[in-house]
Amino acid sequence: SGLPLFADLPGDVNVSFEFFPPKTEKMEAQLWDAVEKLAPLNPAFVSVTYGAGGSTRERTHATVSRIIRQAKLPAAAHLTCVEASKAEIRAVAEQYWEEGVRHIVALRGDPTTPGGKFEPHPDGYASAAELVAGLKEIAPFEISVAAYPETHPEASCPQADIDNLKRKIDAGADRAITQFFFSPECFLEFREKLLANGITAPVLPGILPVSNVAQTRKMAAMCGAAIPDWMDRLFEGLDERPGARKLVAATIAAEFCRSLYAGGVRDFHFYTLNRADLSYAICHLLGMRPVVSNLAGEAK
Ligand code: FAD
Repeated sequence: SGLPLFADLPGDVNVSFEFFPPKTEKMEAQLWDAVEKLAPLNPAFVSVTYGAGGSTRERTHATVSRIIRQAKLPAAAHLTCVEASKAEIRAVAEQYWEEGVRHIVALRGDPTTPGGKFEPHPDGYASAAELVAGLKEIAPFEISVAAYPETHPEASCPQADIDNLKRKIDAGADRAITQFFFSPECFLEFREKLLANGITAPVLPGILPVSNVAQTRKMAAMCGAAIPDWMDRLFEGLDERPGARKLVAATIAAEFCRSLYAGGVRDFHFYTLNRADLSYAICHLLGMRPVVSNLAGEAK
């Protein structure tokens, strides 16, 4: 099939891990456990999401600061335009810069009422491209933006969405990270199209290691990603078999990443959902090994 054997993969990949801010002490412990387990893989960066309407603003902030301070990992803060004036965004961004946060994932965000239409704040930014330009005026942040291999649901057509990505890169974004997807070909074709449109910035595939199809279906419905039929078939009958389900999940995700690798992909962004196991196992199969054990970041 042309796919390399896992045993032959040299680990010549760069990975990044995405986390969400924890709501409770128990979730905080879970997040920290994941950060500590993944840190020895020496990620290029990790990132922390931002809740709708700034509902998690403080928690995103606290989580990013703690990861930088304690795990000594380069951490990016996600930031959205939702329900925020330009002045409020400036205040948040300036504080980030002062605290040593150098990387922002700049997003428009979604309306606070699910399914509603995005209405910009009267004194705010109307799109991610505007936010990128605004942030660049505040400080020389490294900036990542979102990309959609299956097209953002609000875009009039795939080309319009690619034009929008181009605007974000032209406004100063350094890279794009994609929404999750489950067809390697879809990403590889998307990457070709971006190159044809003059987008040469790195585009990191967003990898969601699935172990719960029902939960994934809910997430996918919100962002327009397609769940292929084979996914249901591979998880069929495993609801009461968590051990087998996890092995199947790791196999599917590792095979998916191997196909991307065979297509030339060397950067992988993992939606960890604050759990280390699946992402760690996939990185291991891609040939990565821990750089330093227990002393995350000390050797950098
Ligand atoms: P934009 O790039 O502004 O695009 C939004 C839509 O408008 C697209 O359809 C685009 O084609 C269209 N558009 C924009 N400008 C124009 C124009 N001038 N003319 C015509 N069409 C235009 N959400 C959160 O709330 N918190 C997070 O932490 C978060 N993290 C994310 C991380 C990643 C990697 C990804 C892929 C998504 C994330 N999201 C997050 C979700 C994101 O906020 C939503 O997908 C949102 O609907 C779009 O955000 P955007 O930055 O892509 O918007």
